[in-house]
Amino acid sequence: MDYSKIVSPLLKWYKRNARSLPWRDDPTPYRVWISEIMLQQTRVEAVKPYFERFLREIPDVRALAEIPEGRLLKLWEGLGYYSRARSLKKAAGVLLEQYGGRLPASAEELKKLPGIGEYTAGAIASIAYGLPEPAVDGNVLRVAARLAASHRDVSAPGVKRELRESLRAVYPAGNAGAFTQSLMELGATVCLPNGAPLCGACPLAGLCEARRKGEEAALPVKAPKAERRKEDRTVFLILCGGAVAVRRRPETGLLAGLWEFPGVGGALSPERAENVLRGWGLSVGTMEPLPKAKHVFSHIEWRMTGYFVRVPKTAAGFAWAEIPALFRDYAVPSAFRAHLKFLRDHGSP
Ligand code: SF4
Repeated sequence: MDYSKIVSPLLKWYKRNARSLPWRDDPTPYRVWISEIMLQQTRVEAVKPYFERFLREIPDVRALAEIPEGRLLKLWEGLGYYSRARSLKKAAGVLLEQYGGRLPASAEELKKLPGIGEYTAGAIASIAYGLPEPAVDGNVLRVAARLAASHRDVSAPGVKRELRESLRAVYPAGNAGAFTQSLMELGATVCLPNGAPLCGACPLAGLCEARRKGEEAALPVKAPKAERRKEDRTVFLILCGGAVAVRRRPETGLLAGLWEFPGVGGALSPERAENVLRGWGLSVGTMEPLPKAKHVFSHIEWRMTGYFVRVPKTAAGFAWAEIPALFRDYAVPSAFRAHLKFLRDHGSP
């Protein structure tokens, strides 16, 4: 595929069709960085309000390095993949110590920072600094596979690197940021995944091999994902007066360091659930089952049985959060969305 041919039509198309997004209006390195990290694994529409709130409260590298982790996680609550937020803070510390609080204008240097890989480094370097550095993600891989009618597995080793190299060679001087974004934008709004590209609206339709061969719906080729592990859990909403029992998850692993409602592995019957509560030093006042809930992580699926329990006395081993404070100050991951909703609706003493 001769990528030099796509540059001009893509740039023209992008000029007319770019969506107005909060981070595009003023693409400083800090804003591009935060937006790109938020956009990993998360839809644009979901990111918008988070981005604006985040920038209001944490406007620069120093503020990010200094914000207490609990507050940062609260601001991130609901976005998922919380290690992204922790890496941002860690990277901000490095930037303060080693780079005078500025993001370096070099993809190689950017990649040394926690949480910044090839893709994010390319996005910051090209969009914020105008450097000829491609940012190849799933969207761009899909567009390229279709343009070339390539049947190679896009997740195979080497495919990304080769595409980066081919694209780097055609980066337009003075327009690097627009070119990076035009590729992303085409993948996000026209060359859509799951066999549904809008070829009629595509500025590259005349250059596209997949379109010519009628193969666009069958591409790209991707190895099937490993099946998600299913895990049964029992989650307890334990209320004592107006306070609910929560605890912090361990500092490593799934949902590290976030707050959760106490739970155990397995789908427990009411009798076994009561035994667990007794083991925690709690005597049960009333107990009723909660509706079943499910949460899908990238590799695991939690299938949650739940109990809503009122207890006359608190016990050690938990934090007992007043309900308004829980909603205001505690970062509880969206795995517990159903429980939070239940608490909002039924949690008054
Ligand atoms: S013509 Fe269709 S398949 Fe080809 S790049 Fe454009 S939208 Fe994608």
